[in-house]
Amino acid sequence: MKSMICCRVGIPGAGLFFVLFCLVIEPQDSARRHQVQSPQRNMRHRSRPARTAAPMIGQDTLPAGSRLMKVTRRHLFAALAAGSAALASRPLIASEGVKSAITPDAALATLKKGNQAFTMGHAFNYGLNDSQRRAFLAGQRPFATIVCCSDSRAAPEQIFETGVGQLFVVRNAGSTVANPQAMGSIEYSVAHLGVPLVVVLGHTSCGAVKAAIDVADKKAVLPGSLGAMVDPIVPAVHTAQKIAGDLVENSIRENIHHVVHDLRAPGQRLLAEPRRSGKLKIVGAEYHFASGIVEFFDVE
Ligand SMILES: [Zn+2]
Repeated sequence: MKSMICCRVGIPGAGLFFVLFCLVIEPQDSARRHQVQSPQRNMRHRSRPARTAAPMIGQDTLPAGSRLMKVTRRHLFAALAAGSAALASRPLIASEGVKSAITPDAALATLKKGNQAFTMGHAFNYGLNDSQRRAFLAGQRPFATIVCCSDSRAAPEQIFETGVGQLFVVRNAGSTVANPQAMGSIEYSVAHLGVPLVVVLGHTSCGAVKAAIDVADKKAVLPGSLGAMVDPIVPAVHTAQKIAGDLVENSIRENIHHVVHDLRAPGQRLLAEPRRSGKLKIVGAEYHFASGIVEFFDVE
C-alpha cells in the first residue's frame, strides 16, 4: 500500500519562495521494485560504494522504504534551508511608515549580487502566490531606487533579479530627473521610505541619447514632446563631444554623470542631508545589453 505526504511551504515576504515536495513512502518490496525499474537511481547508488558495498551495522536492517524517506527528507530540509537563506538576504516587507534599515553599501552589494545571478542565465521566479501578494498590503520597504530608461530591454527588476516590493523605480526615456515628477518620486523614496541607495542607470544603445545627439549635432527638431524629453540630455552630449571616442557611448556615460551630479547638488535638501549622515548613497551605472552586466561607477 502506498501513502503520500504532500508538504506545501509558502513563505510570504520579499523573497519569492514556493517549495512543493511530495514524499513517497513505499514499503520494502515496492522500493526494491522501484530500484530495479530505475537505472538512473541504481547509477547514483553505485556512485557511493561505501554505502552499498559495506553498509553500517543497523543501516541494512532499516526497511528500504525508510532509507528512501530519509534521503527525501534531507532534500526537503536542504531546499527549505536554501529558501530561508535567500529570504534572509532580502529586505523584509515593512508596515506603512517603517523605513528601510539596510545600509547603502549593503543595498549596493545586493544589486551587484542580483545582477551577477542574472548574467548566469538561470531561471528566476518573479511571481507571487496569493499570500505573498497580500503580505504587501502592509506597506513597502524597497532597498534601492532605480532611475532608469523606459527602454523595454532594461527592466531593473529583471536585471537585478529582484521581486515585488524591493525596488522603487523612476523611469523615463533617457533616465532624466529634470522634472518635479521624477525628482519628487526620488525624494519620496528617500525621505518617506528610507531608501538608502539611488542608482542612476543608463544603458547601451539608448535611443533617447541618440535623439539628443541628433538635436545637439544636427540641429534636429523633434515633434511633439520629444524635443522637451531629450533636452535635459543635450548638455551631456556637448560634454561628450569634447571627449575622444564613440560619441554615443560617451554621451550615454556623460548623461549618467550629469544626472548623478544633479542629484548630489547641495540644493537637493531631501537628498543632501541623508548623504551627509551616511544614510544615502547616489551612484551611477550602465547596463550592457550584450553581456547583461551592470557596470557601477561614480560610487561614493
Ligand atoms: Zn534608453
